[in-house]
Amino acid sequence: MLTYINRDCFVRFLRGKQRKQMADYKVCYDPSTSTPQIPPKILLALSLSESSLSLLEMLVSLLHEQREMHRGNSGFELFVVHVDQSNVYPYPSGMESTAILESIRQTYNDMCTTICTPVDDFFADTRSVLHFMHSGSDIADYSFLADLTLDGKITVPDVLANIRDRTSKLDFLQTIREALVFNAAKELQCTTIVWGDTMSRLAEKTLSLTAKGRGSVIPYLLSDGFRNGIYNIYPLREILRAEAEEYVKMLDISNYVSKPSVKAPNVLRMMTIDDLIANYFADIEKGFPSIVSTVVRTAAKLTDKVADASNICALCGLPCDDKTPERWLQDITVNQSAPSFDATNEQDDIGPEMDEPRLIICYGCLVATNGASFPWISTIRNSKEEVLDEYELH
Ligand SMILES: [Zn+2]
Repeated sequence: MLTYINRDCFVRFLRGKQRKQMADYKVCYDPSTSTPQIPPKILLALSLSESSLSLLEMLVSLLHEQREMHRGNSGFELFVVHVDQSNVYPYPSGMESTAILESIRQTYNDMCTTICTPVDDFFADTRSVLHFMHSGSDIADYSFLADLTLDGKITVPDVLANIRDRTSKLDFLQTIREALVFNAAKELQCTTIVWGDTMSRLAEKTLSLTAKGRGSVIPYLLSDGFRNGIYNIYPLREILRAEAEEYVKMLDISNYVSKPSVKAPNVLRMMTIDDLIANYFADIEKGFPSIVSTVVRTAAKLTDKVADASNICALCGLPCDDKTPERWLQDITVNQSAPSFDATNEQDDIGPEMDEPRLIICYGCLVATNGASFPWISTIRNSKEEVLDEYELH
């Protein structure tokens, strides 16, 4: 498939695709004083896959060029965060992610600031840990209990052990990873997050979100735009995974590739939705790459109906459309008494009171947590506005 005449041509071609998506991040000058404006801080979510490493190299090369052309000034300041999941999935032997990140920082001559966040940091703030329970016998039987007596550290493997199937485990791990990337962006005061998802990955995510009952968030999650007050971009959306893999080889940075080795089982029945879809696209990408781009372009045409929704799922933190699963769930739960911490409030009402905190779980999370019970950092008491306020940069 890759029949580029020479290395430089190929490298320039891919960099051009990334730069087209990030045309706004150029060096800007104040019109009155002609001095360069303070560049925005951007955060790269680095998974240490070929794709995210390609994007890192492209961003550093862009910074380098900008500094040369604009007397040391740049259009953005680059931060890189990696979520270390070594306690969940083993990394290739002998590779410590902190050491890899340090080596990357040195290789790129301090062009970026690197941060390594352990996945268990998700539970670092035990003040907001609540206990989530879903019996699984009745779809409406779910609740959160304040659980402030938790002793010891909560680990992500503990939480995942309570979730039944691999699809849902990986689904929650992704929620945790993304929450940590957002937290890092907030702490570092970054206004933009760049994700290394290639066109192939975006196509996989489109089908997998659909299959997992999360179809309503496809445009919200996979388009460039604001989430939690931070702008999100997918600069590799026109690049295939095979091209990113080739790019990493050509630029001799494959020694940094260190994907946690999540081994897909050979038995078809044991595979997750993500495994199946990844296999499907891996085959299709070789012969019919246009199908991959059709999936991504079709997803991009969907209208985002949840971005303005005022409800946020207590588990995945994504907005939910109150006209569909959430409304449906409320209708089901209306005859049951809501879990209450206030014993005096025993009236037989037909629904939660208006100012009572409402428990909202999106359809995707409801399906994924079937029969599970685990501690979780919850946004149960936060309206979307409160979450946004929290993310507002000071
Ligand atoms: Zn959810």
